[in-house]
Amino acid sequence: MSTLLKAEGLVRRYAMRRGWFGRPVEVRALDGVSLSLEHGRTLGLVGESGCGKSTTGRLVLGLETPDEGRVTFEDQPLPAPGTAEWRRLRARMQMVYQDPLGAMDRRLTIGAQVAEPWAIHDRSSSPERVAALLRSVGLRPDHAARYPHELSGGQRQRAVLARALATDPALLVCDEPISALDVSIQAQVMNLLSEIQAERGVALLFISHDLRAVRQMSHRVAVMYLGRIVEEGEPDAVLHDPAHPYSQALVSAIPHPQRRGQRIVLQGDPPSPAARPAGCAFHPRCPVASARCAVDTPALRPRADGRLVACHVAHGEIPAGHGLPAPTLAKAA
Ligand code: SF4
Repeated sequence: MSTLLKAEGLVRRYAMRRGWFGRPVEVRALDGVSLSLEHGRTLGLVGESGCGKSTTGRLVLGLETPDEGRVTFEDQPLPAPGTAEWRRLRARMQMVYQDPLGAMDRRLTIGAQVAEPWAIHDRSSSPERVAALLRSVGLRPDHAARYPHELSGGQRQRAVLARALATDPALLVCDEPISALDVSIQAQVMNLLSEIQAERGVALLFISHDLRAVRQMSHRVAVMYLGRIVEEGEPDAVLHDPAHPYSQALVSAIPHPQRRGQRIVLQGDPPSPAARPAGCAFHPRCPVASARCAVDTPALRPRADGRLVACHVAHGEIPAGHGLPAPTLAKAA
């Protein structure tokens, strides 16, 4: 299967000021993220809020420019944002947002919004084409005359999908596409995304904090922590037998009758990207950290089982420790 999207060594820095008179500090939202996605496949990106998942989505769409690294789409580097070439390419890569109401214009009918991409990309539109697109996402043609607030949450997300599909994209970046929906609707939208992928061969970058949704949707899964991918592999391997201590903690939080009482509770909150711990960024919370983890950053590299993992213990380089007594925080830049 050929590669559609490739990101190599993406770094994204922001300047953040603490208070009115504080000096700006550098926040590394992404710190060397590499990934690739084949045509018609799904890569699930999972991790806690603020780990850099959404920033990754914006960078691969060219909505933001990386400070380091590069993105290629069908073997071509992304054009500069805002250029005519970039707008042409954007027709082939679309975003599905978490909040469908926020993603829509409340003053326009669903039909007008679904047809909008055709106007932007100089393509012909007709009520029949709008009706066909609405049907393809499980809406009725008469929904075209309604306004966003007249639809349910699930119907609105279907309308957002219809608009994203109008230009027949090769890639959909779905940023938490089900987290604003009722549980009963979430399964419907995931099934719809799978059907769309099977029919159209569209690739999905499925960003979510919900491991069960990621497992259901993905052909590969990447786990992110503090701006880096710490584990990547087949969903069954990563989510049934996680190798990285952070993935193990995430998976242990999924309710399961055979894991009762085995939840790994991590100490403290994720550190701020403005004060990234030295060495392995996870070491202040890692239950099996050793002294080396505080000074030596593990690279993301393959193990014998083919899985990519960034952990000294998971690679068998050092024995599991008992966690480090106190966090060692890097000085804020
Ligand atoms: Fe934990 Fe050390 Fe592995 Fe980092 S490198 S995840 S601190 S054991």
